[in-house]
Amino acid sequence: MEEKTYNNATGIPCPVCKKGIIKLSLGTFLFDNKFVCPFCNTQFNMDKSQCLPILEKLQDFYNASKEVERLKKQSL
Ligand SMILES: [Zn+2]
Repeated sequence: MEEKTYNNATGIPCPVCKKGIIKLSLGTFLFDNKFVCPFCNTQFNMDKSQCLPILEKLQDFYNASKEVERLKKQSL
């Protein structure tokens, strides 16, 4: 049985320096408006108005993963 990993941070490759993956947690993606490349310190602003349907799905996913965490803690 495969176990899904909800807590792994996702990331995007830096389009400026292409030196590596900029790690973005789901929380960062949802609640912050900008992120910084750790390799070249370029700051990126996220235009959320362009991707609202995606954000709504991510919000659902985020809530679901929080619920999973909560249940995991309860069962310990
Ligand atoms: Zn960069």
